[in-house]
Amino acid sequence: MRKNKHLGRRHFLRNSVLGLIGAGMASKGGWSREKENVRSDTQQSKDKATLKIKGYRTLGRTGYKVSDLALGYVQDEGLMAAMLDAGVNYIDTGESYPGAHQNIGKVIKGRDRKSLFITSKMLMEGETSKEGLIKRVHKSLQDLGTDYLDCMMLHMPEKVEALKHEGFHAAMQELKAQGRVRFVGVSNHGSFWFRDPEESMGKVLLAATEDGRFDVFLFAYNFLQMDQSEQVLEACKEKNIGTSLMKSTPVAKYYILKSRVEQLEKAGKKVSPFYREGLIRFKEKADRAERFISKYNLEKPEEIRAAAIRFVLSNPKVNTVCCSLNTYEEMERILPLSGTTLTSQDRAKLAAYKEGCGDLYCRHACGLCEPNCPQGVPVNTIMRYFHYFVAQGREREAMLKYADIPGARADVCGDCQGHCESACPYNVTVQGLLLLAHDQLSLA
Ligand code: SF4
Ligand code: SF4
Repeated sequence: MRKNKHLGRRHFLRNSVLGLIGAGMASKGGWSREKENVRSDTQQSKDKATLKIKGYRTLGRTGYKVSDLALGYVQDEGLMAAMLDAGVNYIDTGESYPGAHQNIGKVIKGRDRKSLFITSKMLMEGETSKEGLIKRVHKSLQDLGTDYLDCMMLHMPEKVEALKHEGFHAAMQELKAQGRVRFVGVSNHGSFWFRDPEESMGKVLLAATEDGRFDVFLFAYNFLQMDQSEQVLEACKEKNIGTSLMKSTPVAKYYILKSRVEQLEKAGKKVSPFYREGLIRFKEKADRAERFISKYNLEKPEEIRAAAIRFVLSNPKVNTVCCSLNTYEEMERILPLSGTTLTSQDRAKLAAYKEGCGDLYCRHACGLCEPNCPQGVPVNTIMRYFHYFVAQGREREAMLKYADIPGARADVCGDCQGHCESACPYNVTVQGLLLLAHDQLSLA
């Protein structure tokens, strides 16, 4: 990893109220062991019935029947085990997720390997020769404690050209022949450092459908962000490519950021006029969102999240939805959604949320505003790291990634007129969001 020139003193979560939201909430023990002590027999039977996967879908041309809800980023081993016990059989992981392969290795030990579809991904950074990549895959297999991966994905190719990485394809061909990798995939959620407006997620993935060597895709799709993804889903259906989705619940930030703005105001933090105006614009929209939330009875974020997942599950072109969880309570809310589809009540709630809160959500895989930033701030990448921090409990990783950004970061946004915000076609109050992201991701 490059030297973290921006990180400074790392008191990662010590001063972070938001950190407390994400950290330490997931129990360390197994779900069944802890819960059985406090639940009646009747309640336990009810739990067993509702906390089971009810929907399985064929993952494109792999022919594998995967659970409609998949194991996304989960740190707690007991929570992971409980998801698998409930019938989740698709595991999404990545070489670059700290400790993830080893954790999964412990959880799958002793389970029927054929009953699981394990997908990992590799960034084309560091050692990327054919031999180097083969070595990296063998290390991943060792960490996972398995002889083979069901799918290895090319992680976040930034442009169409990157889909053709010779070392990657040569390595995959050899690993397939050795029986170490069964299928090859690609993941994408937008630009990385500097946006090339010609190279959108949609363009890269549509090119990947034509390439013919990718059997499974992982990409962002949710009720606030449909256009590019629906085109990709259609193309995948035509080519019988498996589809796994991520970033399906773009809900958490409003509720969390609201409390952060209040903290800043209470602390009387000295800020530049641009900073203050950015936050004021954010707060105006947040207040408007709150009125909507109250008017349309949207007080419970878990209800919106449930509707958001049902929205994605209602699309028959979607094979599985990756769920990143921090707590057992989240798991108990998400598992009963398996096998369900959108209701008319859900539809009304999502429409109201979109109207009231949609401009507080910076779309994953977007980056359309980035060419308008005179400082070259990677807006969408920063907002993705912020998402890891506030919504996925990946605080430490998000802060390290943010510190590792080589060029300008969101600290420069406090002295800017907000050109990105004016350029955003979704009217996202992104300057305020960027300032909050910097505030949170650079705690020292
Ligand atoms: S602020 Fe708007 S244009 Fe910029 S990345 Fe976010 S959604 Fe896209
Ligand atoms: S607020 Fe200004 S400096 Fe920050 S990303 Fe937007 S245009 Fe760039």
